[in-house]
Amino acid sequence: MFDGTMEVKVAPTSSGHLAIQWAKARRLGGLSLRLCVSTSPGAPRLVLSESLSETGYFVDETSNVRHRDRLPSYFFEYTDPSGMIMDTSPAYTLTYEPDIAYLSYLVEAERALQKIDGVAGVALILKREGERCPSCWNVIEAKRMKDYCPVCFGTGWDGGYWDPISFTFRYLRMPSVGQINLDGAPTYDSVYQVQALYYPALLEGDVIVDTHNAERFRVHTIELVTYRSSFPVFQNITAIRIPKSDALHALTIPEEFFKKHRPLKAAPVVM
Ligand SMILES: [Zn+2]
Repeated sequence: MFDGTMEVKVAPTSSGHLAIQWAKARRLGGLSLRLCVSTSPGAPRLVLSESLSETGYFVDETSNVRHRDRLPSYFFEYTDPSGMIMDTSPAYTLTYEPDIAYLSYLVEAERALQKIDGVAGVALILKREGERCPSCWNVIEAKRMKDYCPVCFGTGWDGGYWDPISFTFRYLRMPSVGQINLDGAPTYDSVYQVQALYYPALLEGDVIVDTHNAERFRVHTIELVTYRSSFPVFQNITAIRIPKSDALHALTIPEEFFKKHRPLKAAPVVM
């Protein structure tokens, strides 16, 4: 059932918890997918979250790599309605050992984002597979038949995007006047440079929502900024402002995502 097509990323947050992001899990009839953690080899697996969707994001607050000398491992399991485990994925964990200097750097990076120049945002991860849009997808021609579709928001996939994820980003460069029209009116460039921590990991086609001014941007390119040339710290993103006429603006984001950003926790004790 786990056939190697599932993509899983594990990344440390500044507080030392691990963020797990997965994509392309298969939806299997009658079975549900869940996420488990094991704190050491041979230790029993604890269930972190039941009934996951094919793509998602979870922060494991039960583990803290600052206070442990061994990294926890994450597993996905398919279970039947009675709770019987039908298959278990390979183990996923961090591919590098985060040292204290790196984690301290992450704390500073996140603090600066949240306290100084960060903007509360929502990341929408594009559906890249699954059910096609029931409203606009033409199965015979394998293409969308409407320009404006409020069911898939122009993506061709049912629902268009996975569940929203809260995150914080900053504007690196606001767009300047692109050019002057023949009638003398300025037109503004719609390309923005923004920076976010490297989780949730974004890909071209994903959407960033600025919850302060309701602007929405489509991710175009992503460049990773690293610490000591190996540990990821930021994503530098080129994003293009999505015009209000785009169907993406018909996508409703739940009210709770517009509340104030969760405050940064007190600096944890150094290990
Ligand atoms: Zn559609």
